[in-house]
Amino acid sequence: MHDVIILGAGISGLSAAKLLCEQGINVLVLEARDRVGGRTCTLHDPQFGYTDVGGAYVGPTQNCILRLAKELGVETYLVDDSQYSLAEIQGSVRRFSGVIPPIYNPIGLLDLNHAIRTIDKMVAEIPQETPWKHSNAKQLDCMTAKEFIEKIAWAESTRSFLNIFIRTVFCVEAHEISALSVLWAIKCGQGIDRICNIAGGAQERKFVGGAQMISERLAERIGRDRVRLKSPVVRVEQEAEGVTVTSEGGETFKGQFAISAVPHAILQRIHFHPPLPAMKGQLIQRMPMGSVIKTVTFYERAFWKERGFSGCSMSDTGPVDFSIDDTKPDGSHPAIMGFIQADTARRMSLDTLERRKEYVCKHYAKIFKMKEFLEPQDYVEMNWMEETYSGGCYSSSFGPGVLTSFGEALRQPVDRIHFAGTELANEWAGYMDGAVQAGERAAREVLHKLGKTGPAEGLQPELPPANASLAPAETSWLLGALPSVDTLLRFGGIALAAGLAWLFQSKL
Ligand SMILES: Cc1cc2nc3c(=O)[nH]c(=O)nc-3n(C[C@H](O)[C@H](O)[C@H](O)COP(=O)(O)OP(=O)(O)OC[C@H]3O[C@@H](n4cnc5c(N)ncnc54)[C@H](O)[C@@H]3O)c2cc1C
Repeated sequence: MHDVIILGAGISGLSAAKLLCEQGINVLVLEARDRVGGRTCTLHDPQFGYTDVGGAYVGPTQNCILRLAKELGVETYLVDDSQYSLAEIQGSVRRFSGVIPPIYNPIGLLDLNHAIRTIDKMVAEIPQETPWKHSNAKQLDCMTAKEFIEKIAWAESTRSFLNIFIRTVFCVEAHEISALSVLWAIKCGQGIDRICNIAGGAQERKFVGGAQMISERLAERIGRDRVRLKSPVVRVEQEAEGVTVTSEGGETFKGQFAISAVPHAILQRIHFHPPLPAMKGQLIQRMPMGSVIKTVTFYERAFWKERGFSGCSMSDTGPVDFSIDDTKPDGSHPAIMGFIQADTARRMSLDTLERRKEYVCKHYAKIFKMKEFLEPQDYVEMNWMEETYSGGCYSSSFGPGVLTSFGEALRQPVDRIHFAGTELANEWAGYMDGAVQAGERAAREVLHKLGKTGPAEGLQPELPPANASLAPAETSWLLGALPSVDTLLRFGGIALAAGLAWLFQSKL
């Protein structure tokens, strides 16, 4: 009999297991795959050393994952964004630095600035733990992000930028996701700037040796004998005294409590006895995973850097929506990482790997205007839609109405079963940081039930590590003070009317 049985050896399940082990709790982790790490996956090959084809980037304010990495001795390195980025928006390709893409039309720029500041203001009002309790929750939740974008954006270029944002952050099209859930995710990630930025933002750093190393080291800490690979859980039964968990091979394991750290979207494959409560049972049918193919293309030289480009690009036509340089910190194995997302990923899933490689290289050659991109040394990719035990990536999204109707059921335990996984975090949900936070929260809930700790302790916020940069992503006062196109037109209209009236009067 174990104290706690944990389903899933991703970062969340293993973080829960580590915290419990540290309190002397006897845990067993059951993992479906033949490896730990879940949605983080680091490939190793003599050709390119190592490369992340799953979760990879971390940045300031992601305090849980940074703290954990430090404790496990996994170092980070800075992603290079010292040179120009490129944006392909509405057929024109322009270079730029920072987050805001280059829109030379001043009206377009005003509009984009205004849309971003409007979103940031609305985000400030969202309750971080319970977005469904926002005063205007129902209205925002019943609206798709597409409708929301059409409401707040005036210029086509602003709509294009915001659509790229939705695709690259959620791996869905804007019509598939609720406006409230987008605003909540922006809240969890501390604003659009923080989410989009490389320096000072969510893409600031990568792990030396790859992100899967976090889970490898966690499994070592917990004890490899407590982490059983190739053991997909198919049944969880609850009785008055405990839980019985059955794996695909028919083996059964008994525990006092269970923590499920399996993505909600694939919980439907597990039989629960008694069945999950109505709201939980319905919620897990309504959290689909995003659609993404992560690609890494290797070259002999980082010729883009020699010509002043960092390798970072965004595009509203694709196939690569977003790219970042993926050269190792010592300059070896020059590479570009590119995401194929949402509808494009679905469409390109029907192609062969060779065709996708060709499309990706042609895309880089076109937007960077460098034909060397057509001659890669190597190409690797991972189509997360094909992964049985993920069902897609980076994480689940909430369609219209789901958060307000089912949000309360998100983190609620079901008797002896507690729930973890990045989707259940209230900071950086969908990221590795959220996975740690949600795992530790579930572990503390169980510790409390085991009489090991008071409930207040389980609710304490994470302390940032000593070396964390907590500076807020900066917005200049000028950007904050610029008017919207609407205001400008209205003001301009009034000024024009007043001018004409004055002219007319002076002629009389
Ligand atoms: C392409 C891609 C890019 C990403 N980029 C970033 C990034 O740059 N930064 C960032 O912070 N995050 C990123 N993410 C997201 C990040 O990887 C995830 O948020 C995080 O790893 C989720 O951890 P988790 O433990 O909650 O879930 P998972 O990693 O999904 O872990 C769940 C585990 O449960 C197992 N499992 C499933 N079903 C069963 C079953 N029936 N029985 C037993 N085990 C089961 C799975 O195999 C898996 O190991 C990215 C993800 C992807 C795929």
